[in-house]
Amino acid sequence: MRFKGKKELCIVLMLAGMIYSQYCLAQVRPRLVVGITVDQMPWEYMVRFQHRWHANGGIRRMLNEGFELQHTSLNYLPTFTACGHASIFTGSVPAIHGITGNQWFDLVAQGNQYCTADTLAKTVGSQTDAGEMSPRNLLTTTVADELKLATAFRGKTVGIAIKDRGGILPVGHSANAAYWYDPDEGKWITSTYYMQQIPEWVNKFNTKAKVDSLYGLDWHLLYKEDTYTAYPIQSRLSEQGIRQRQYPQGLKRFIGSKYDIIAATPQGNTLTTEFVKACIVNEQLGADTIPDMIAISYSSIDYLGHTFGPMSYEVEDAMLRLDMELGAFFRFLDKQVGAGAWLAFLTSDHGVAQVPAVGKAMKLPSGITEDKQLSTKINEVLKVQFGLDGLCKSVLNQQVVLNIDLIKRVKKLSTSDVLDFLIPWLEQQPAILRVVRLDGGNATFLPEMVQKQIRNGYYPRRSGNLQLLYKSGYVEGVEGGGTSHGTGYTYDIRIPLLWYGWKVPKGQSFKKVNVTDIAPTLSAMLHIQEPSGCIGDVITEIVEPTKH
Ligand code: ZN
Ligand code: ZN
Repeated sequence: MRFKGKKELCIVLMLAGMIYSQYCLAQVRPRLVVGITVDQMPWEYMVRFQHRWHANGGIRRMLNEGFELQHTSLNYLPTFTACGHASIFTGSVPAIHGITGNQWFDLVAQGNQYCTADTLAKTVGSQTDAGEMSPRNLLTTTVADELKLATAFRGKTVGIAIKDRGGILPVGHSANAAYWYDPDEGKWITSTYYMQQIPEWVNKFNTKAKVDSLYGLDWHLLYKEDTYTAYPIQSRLSEQGIRQRQYPQGLKRFIGSKYDIIAATPQGNTLTTEFVKACIVNEQLGADTIPDMIAISYSSIDYLGHTFGPMSYEVEDAMLRLDMELGAFFRFLDKQVGAGAWLAFLTSDHGVAQVPAVGKAMKLPSGITEDKQLSTKINEVLKVQFGLDGLCKSVLNQQVVLNIDLIKRVKKLSTSDVLDFLIPWLEQQPAILRVVRLDGGNATFLPEMVQKQIRNGYYPRRSGNLQLLYKSGYVEGVEGGGTSHGTGYTYDIRIPLLWYGWKVPKGQSFKKVNVTDIAPTLSAMLHIQEPSGCIGDVITEIVEPTKH
C-alpha cells in the first residue's frame, strides 16, 4: 500500500487508532449485560429442582458453564419486591437507597406513597394511569447509572418487567427506558419521565395480539404429574386455605378481554422474553463495543407463588418453563450479540414462605397475621389505655407507625409512654416474636444479623416507630389462601445467584455473600465505579483484576 501524501497517512493512522481504541474497549467490557431477576425465587428451588432443569435450559447452562454463589442472602427488612430490585442494582439497602417497601407511610407527606408513583409523570403508550411512574424516590445510583457515566452516556440501558417497579428501579435514573405492562389494555408502556412518545417497535409489538395468542396455548403441565416435587395433597386441603390446582387451565376464554390474567400464568414470562428480544433487536442493544445493559424481571413467578405457594405444581411448572425459555433466549443472544460477548447474572428479589395451611399439615410452625386488623386492635387498646382515638396511623412493612403529632399535642403524654405500654402488649400477640423500637431503644439483645437487617431497612422519613418481628412461618395478609414474603427468615432472604458469560469462570462457592455484593461485583467486572450508595463487597472469586 502506498500513500500519496501526509493527509492520507494521517487518515489511515486515525482510523487505525479508532479501531485500536475500540479493540481495547472490547477487551475490558462485554457488549451487553443482562441482569435477570426472577421475582420470588427462593434459593431452595436451586436445590429442589436441580435434577429437573432442562439439558438445553438457561439455568442448566449457567450452572454448567458459569459460577454459582450458593449462599446469597438479603441483608435488610422488609423483603419485598421494590426493596429487592433496588438493592440488587444499587448494592445498597433501604436505609440508604430509600426504597423501604413497595409502599410506605411518608412522614412528611403524612400519607402512603407507592415506591415508583410520580404525579409529574404521565403514561406513554396507553390511555390509563398505569404509567404515572418514575424512579424519583430511589435516592442513590444503580449500576446501570454508573455504566452510563462510564461510557459518557453512550451505553444504552433498558429495564423491562410486567411490574412497573421491577422494570423501573433496576435501571435507575438515567435509563434510556423502562417498560412495564398495563394490565387493563394489555400493552407495554412507559412514562414521560423517559420519553414523550412510544417507539414504533413497541407500538407494533403491542398491536400484534401477542397476549391473545399466548392465551390460545392454555396451560398444561409440561411433564407427568407424579414427576413433580410439589406438595401432593394440595387439592384436598382447599377448604383450609390452599387454592385448588389450576391446571389444565383454559386461558382461551380470556382472549380479547381479560389482559391482567396473563401476569399470573407462565405465559407472562413468555410475553416478557418476547418483548425483551424485540427491544434488543430494535434498540440495537449489544450491537457495538460500547456496553449496553438490559435488566429483566420475571414477575409471573411471584404472582403464582403468592397464590399457590412454593410447593405447588403451578410454581414448579412455571420455573421449569422459565429455565427452558432462558435457554432459548441465551441462544438468541449468542446469535444477536455474539457468543462470549455478553454477560448475565440471575438472582431474585426475595423468597417466599410456605402456604400456612401446608405448613400446618406438615407440622411446621406457621400462621397468618393481618396488618389492618392489627392496626385496628392497636388503636382499640391504646384508646382504652390513653383515652385517645387514632394513636396508630398504620401497620405497614411490619412496622407500626404512631401518630406522633397527636401524641405531641397531648400534654403529659410522651412517645415513650405509648411505646412502653404497646411493646409488651404486642409481644403477647400469637404471631409476634419480638418488637423493636426503631429509635434504637431495645434491639441489642437480638442476634447481630437480625439487628443488621433492621438497621439496614430503616430510613426514618419512610419507616415506622416499631419493627415487628413475626414468628417463623407467619405470613401477612393472606386471608383466603395463598402466602407471602417480607420477613428476615431464610425462606425469604436466601436467593440464587448465578453468573454466566463474558470472563466468568466456571465454578461454585458456598461463601456467604449478600445481595448488596452483586452491584459492586458487576461494577468491578465492567471496570466502572460502584453505585453511589453501595455498601457491598466484590465477590473476588469471579472477577479478574483489570490493569489500568
Ligand atoms: Zn418480588
Ligand atoms: Zn411478592
